[in-house]
Amino acid sequence: MQDQIAEVTDSRCESTSHDSGNFCPACGETDEGTNRYRFESGRGETQWSRCTSCATYYMTGEYDEAAETDHTRHMAWGNEAEGTRLNLLKENGFKATLDQIEALGYGCLSILDVGCSFGGILVEAEKRGFKCAGLDIVPEAVAYISSLGYRAQQCCSLKDCTLFSQQDPVDVISVLDAHIYWPNQPAELRAARQLLRDDGLLVIRAVTKSAFITTGRMMGTVSARISKKLIRRAIADHRFSMPLKSLLKTVEDAGFEILSASPRGAQHTDSAPLGARAAFALGTLLWHRLGLSIAPTTLVFARKKAE
Ligand SMILES: [Zn+2]
Repeated sequence: MQDQIAEVTDSRCESTSHDSGNFCPACGETDEGTNRYRFESGRGETQWSRCTSCATYYMTGEYDEAAETDHTRHMAWGNEAEGTRLNLLKENGFKATLDQIEALGYGCLSILDVGCSFGGILVEAEKRGFKCAGLDIVPEAVAYISSLGYRAQQCCSLKDCTLFSQQDPVDVISVLDAHIYWPNQPAELRAARQLLRDDGLLVIRAVTKSAFITTGRMMGTVSARISKKLIRRAIADHRFSMPLKSLLKTVEDAGFEILSASPRGAQHTDSAPLGARAAFALGTLLWHRLGLSIAPTTLVFARKKAE
């Protein structure tokens, strides 16, 4: 199917754990932990805090790599039957993302997709002539995409990625709906920078729903039921929810230049419910006209800056 060599490197996640304490996983700052909440999420009732530095809501408590792998296996993108079906649902979003990667001059180059699930953007990228590689936390997903002929590695952190290196860098790294699971986002961004060539491109489809959580909290005085529903939908099973402006600053601090950040093209599918499409349309308008971010997801394109 292609001349890429299937390569599975198994660096299984060790069952290590560490207490995140008051460490903010989104910006890496020590958080005073003065804003504490109990939210119902896709993981059940969980403890959350809101970072005093970057205003991100994040789940507190320990991060256990083995438990995270097991959790992901039970999500739609963690098993083959549902994961491959999701790829079709998200196809338009992948195409829109690749259109923009190509427009920025990175067409037909090497791409590493972080959290690649069962093919994700790679299947569409290969059709367009990219040289594809993927990382995922779930071993079955890695086995599946290597059976398609892509280079793949099972690992929990970009720091453990051996598919590329400073001597053999990659041109494009994509992180689509995956950054919200990172236990230390600044460290992952710095590791991504190490693997990218000079002027390499980082693409993040960021989940930017922290305003929805704030709205949900405010709704608590009006209707506990609606409040819970809003917060649960905003969080899903994510580990943090970061405001867009804080994310852009964190990406810049990790050594990148922001090329663009827009809700445009961040929608998965054109057949989303009317409410969701309206939110994207309004979000795009407000961001471009007023710099206000209310869109549920945002496509961020950033270029590696020289040292
Ligand atoms: Zn923070």
